[in-house]
Amino acid sequence: MRWIERVEETAARPRTRTAKLRSCGLEGGMRFALAGVLSLCFVSMAGAQQTSARPVAVPPSSTSVPTTPVGSQSSSGTAPQTVAPTPVQPRPPEVRFLVLLDPAHGGTESGATLGIAGPEKSYTLALAMRLRAMLSAHGIHSLLTRDADVTLENDARAEIANRAHASACILLHATSSGNGVHLFTSSLAAVAQADPRRAFLPWQTVQAAYGTQSLRLESDFDAALTRQQIPVLATRTSLMPLDSMACPAVAIEVAPLDANTPLTDASYQQKILESLDEALIAWRGEWRQQP
Ligand SMILES: [Zn+2]
Repeated sequence: MRWIERVEETAARPRTRTAKLRSCGLEGGMRFALAGVLSLCFVSMAGAQQTSARPVAVPPSSTSVPTTPVGSQSSSGTAPQTVAPTPVQPRPPEVRFLVLLDPAHGGTESGATLGIAGPEKSYTLALAMRLRAMLSAHGIHSLLTRDADVTLENDARAEIANRAHASACILLHATSSGNGVHLFTSSLAAVAQADPRRAFLPWQTVQAAYGTQSLRLESDFDAALTRQQIPVLATRTSLMPLDSMACPAVAIEVAPLDANTPLTDASYQQKILESLDEALIAWRGEWRQQP
């Protein structure tokens, strides 16, 4: 139950952390530039583009049944109908476990300047590509939101994640401030959904339906990093594209280990990558058992 304790410990920190993330350009939660992001919805969104709450439907697989907006009711017929609740089914084995890796920044948006480690956009991309290789060696499929130095809007990143029906979404950042690894989950209040994959959820706050799973995923990262004796700061924040991701999602910000171990330290980087790899292997097992 460590993940619950972490939330309580860090409840007072979000204001500071949010301000920090804004400084590297990621807190941009009110962008509406990409009308195309609605293409993953089941229903026509011609009218919905006028609203700020953009629905997103997340089918679990190509064989999914059509979804119904939360709270909607049938207007046909006059007699009230009793609808038996649909039992939550375990995740079928044919549903692929897929990790979405989002190297933050890119292109014209360089992120933080990390001294000898270069621009943040390059550091996060290198980290993501190495992690992809490690995951692949363990039979875990992963998808990068970008695999080159290109500019990518937050909505586009979330759209890639949601189209992929990712089992875990990992946003990678880096900073020269602080030490160890900083873990962020969304500060949105968790909304209980029996099966968020079949729900119809607002684009700007879709992550709320995955709040509990995201904290469990964060707990796996925390445990794996702690085993490697890497200091961990776990907290919650308002962050795009995290809040629009329809998947268990954690933002991971790498800081120097200590005054003598910079971001570029090869051994430190390897420990971080092994920790993330180990945590995602653990998560794969947990994810299979969840509804
Ligand atoms: Zn950043």
